[in-house]
Order: sequence, then C-alpha cells, then structure tokens
Amino acid sequence: MTDRPDNMDARRGALVLFSGGQDSTTCLAWALSRFERVETIGFDYGQRHLVELTVRPSVLDGIRAVSPEWNRRLGEDHLLNLPVVAEISDTALTGEVEIAMLANGLPNTFVPGRNLLFLTVAAMLAYRRGLTVLVGGMCETDFSGYPDCRNDTIRAMQQALSLGMATDIRLETPLMWLDKAQTWQLAQELGGEQLVELIRLETHTCYLGERHLHDWGRGCGHCPACELRANGYRRFVGN
Ligand code: ZN
Repeated sequence: MTDRPDNMDARRGALVLFSGGQDSTTCLAWALSRFERVETIGFDYGQRHLVELTVRPSVLDGIRAVSPEWNRRLGEDHLLNLPVVAEISDTALTGEVEIAMLANGLPNTFVPGRNLLFLTVAAMLAYRRGLTVLVGGMCETDFSGYPDCRNDTIRAMQQALSLGMATDIRLETPLMWLDKAQTWQLAQELGGEQLVELIRLETHTCYLGERHLHDWGRGCGHCPACELRANGYRRFVGN
C-alpha cells in the first residue's frame, strides 16, 4: 500500500465490498482517493438485521457529498442475493442446536468461510465490469478469530482468483493492520471531519441491529461490535 498511487494504479478500476459499516465505508473512501473508477458490491444473504442493507444508499449519498472528485469517480452499486449462505447456516442448525451468541460476538448461525464466497462472487462481477482491484475491510487486528479475514487467506485468494480467471486481480485490504482507532484516523485523513461525521452518524456495525445514537455512532452499546467501535472512537478522540 502506498500513499501516492502511480498512474497505473489510478487507471485501474476498483470494486469495493461495501456493507454500509464503518470499515467498508472507510475502504470506499480509500478507493475513491486512489482509483479513477470505483463501484460497490453488497450482499443480501439473509442477515438477521436488514438495517445494514438499508443504510447503504444514504452512506453512498454522503460519500458523494464529501468531494466532487469522489462523486465523479463513484459508479454503480451492485446488490446481489446470496441466499445460499442462509441455507447453509439453517442446515447446520437443523435439529438440536439453538440459535445463540458465541463468545466472539457472532451468532452460531455464522458460516465460516463466508468471505471466501463473497470475494469469489465479487471477482466474478469485477471481471464482467472490467475492474481489476477488489477492496475489502478485512482486518487481522480486531478479528483475528476469523480465519477468512487473515492476510494469508487474502493473499492466497488473490492468487487463486487471478489463476482461476486468467487475469491479474489485486486484493487490497487497507485496514488489515489497523486497529479501530486507526481506522477512524484513516477516515479523518481521507475525508476530513465530514467523512468522520458521516461514518459516525450513518454507518451500521451493531450485531443487534439497534440504532441508538452515542458519541461513537449508532448501536445497542453493549454487543461486541458496539464495544469495539466505541473503544476505538474514544481512543481516536483521545478520551
Ligand atoms: Zn450493538
């Protein structure tokens, strides 16, 4: 990752895995500051809370308002249905297992390897759209428990996708080594106070789908995702 992209970089088009959360919104800003053409992809896979999907359009509107250049560069948003993820999680739960929250803050309906599927589908769409860079908010620092978000996995996926599609596909994960405070800091550097406020007020991260407003943004305030976000924000603003 370089701060100043060369011309080759700028000419490449990027597809951002965009869920409407803090991380993927920061990744979108990162992509818009580097690439001439940027599109977004999101997945409806039977999430427990549709709020994640419903905030996407307002976050995209807000991103366009940050700079005329970003507005010009930001192209189509693609929302794809992947009901197979919910099918697999239902199948796994048939019988004796009850839906419960695990210690890592995820419901036990979570399907391991989900990101591998998302990256594959994103690469398929990118190919059709003539985009050669995939950008995702995968991060080892906060969620080391998710093996499909680790850097080794991402590097292996980049190789597999490039080989399997006989094209040069690059996977960029600008948040891979950042903690949550540094993610806020990156947003500040990319889009100033306006982007920080957009992320604070509009993006959604809470596992329970709640939208109460706190100083760090909206959420229930006590699920692991809210705690992580709140702690990061407080370190960012220096409290
Ligand atoms: Zn929450």
